[in-house]
Amino acid sequence: MTSIQNAAVSPRNAARLELDGLRRSFGAYNALDGIDLSIEPGEFIALLGPSGCGKSTALNCIAGLLGLSGGEIRLGGNRIDQLEPEKRGFGMVFQSYALFPHMSVRKNVGFGLTMQGIKGAEADRRVDAALALVRLESQAEKLPGQLSGGQQQRVAIARAVVIRPPIVLMDEPLSNLDAKLRLEMRAEIRGIHDQIGSTTIYVTHDQDEALSLADRIVVMSQGHIEQIGTPQDLYQRPVNIDVADFMGFRTRIDGRVVAVSGSQAEIEAAGARLTGEMRTPLQVGDAAVLSVRPEDLVAEAGTDGISATVSSMEYRGRAFFGMARAKDGGELYFRADEHLPRGAATTLRPAAGRALMFKAAAP
Ligand code: ATP
Repeated sequence: MTSIQNAAVSPRNAARLELDGLRRSFGAYNALDGIDLSIEPGEFIALLGPSGCGKSTALNCIAGLLGLSGGEIRLGGNRIDQLEPEKRGFGMVFQSYALFPHMSVRKNVGFGLTMQGIKGAEADRRVDAALALVRLESQAEKLPGQLSGGQQQRVAIARAVVIRPPIVLMDEPLSNLDAKLRLEMRAEIRGIHDQIGSTTIYVTHDQDEALSLADRIVVMSQGHIEQIGTPQDLYQRPVNIDVADFMGFRTRIDGRVVAVSGSQAEIEAAGARLTGEMRTPLQVGDAAVLSVRPEDLVAEAGTDGISATVSSMEYRGRAFFGMARAKDGGELYFRADEHLPRGAATTLRPAAGRALMFKAAAP
């Protein structure tokens, strides 16, 4: 659990958040189709899923920026879904920073306190603590436009936590930053979360971000939850082919089950026999999909594997990664120790113990 080190910005009233049958529709479209989730105080939760799956809608419903079409939200056992956003008192951080451009950093951070009627020495003390938390003490008198993107996002974080919210809601806060800064800010966000001990709910479509930040990840698809689990759970044990796909099992190979032994199934696919760990029950004769990450589908001359033709290759430091086409046209993302020219014939085989096997969806 978290260690609370900075009392001036730690939440006053940490409590369990419960989403119970959350629904939100826009006209006839169900953007949220029955979300059930219980979040413990101090947890870091990532809502992860492809564009349009309902992540931001869920976050905005929790914040109170959007009303519900059905279901309940409870904080510490009390219903809050009828409360105005400011009465819920959650901190929010958006992708766009949403800072007031004409106000200094100090005034931006203090804004929420002013709205709560907290003034004078108490407000100063709290703003100083929030600025120290995000390491922006020396920038307090600048305007947002005089800061870098990363600094502006740190102002937005300070502004969110200065009101000592029980829950901090973040919607893709790093999307506008370049790759290097994203990595730095990622570590900083987790560090801030650990220091203040509030609950954080973090929306992202980036699986690396979710894996590295969250205590638990909630994978969403089309308005519902596909799987809830620790990063290790999701990375190693996705429950279905969609979650697997989202967690980087990018290559799918269709085949028919020819043998089952313990938790392993063997399929025949494109003239090869391939083995994977069953994630759904399978029987001999079933149509199945083998799912594997590019780093675990290896090009090796002379192996018994899937014959394919190389379409593209790129060098990524420790290895070459490429895309090849199977005879049936299927795209196979793979790893190789050497560069293979476009058009070269190759043989691909999943590394032992690294492929998953799912029942194929009914046609
Ligand atoms: P992204 O990562 O692209 O932001 P998301 O998972 O956060 O996606 P939402 O913004 O929650 O997705 O949207 C979920 C669905 O609801 C989408 O199909 C979207 O088009 C629809 N939607 C969201 N807001 C509205 C609205 N105000 N009116 C109509 N449809 C909406």
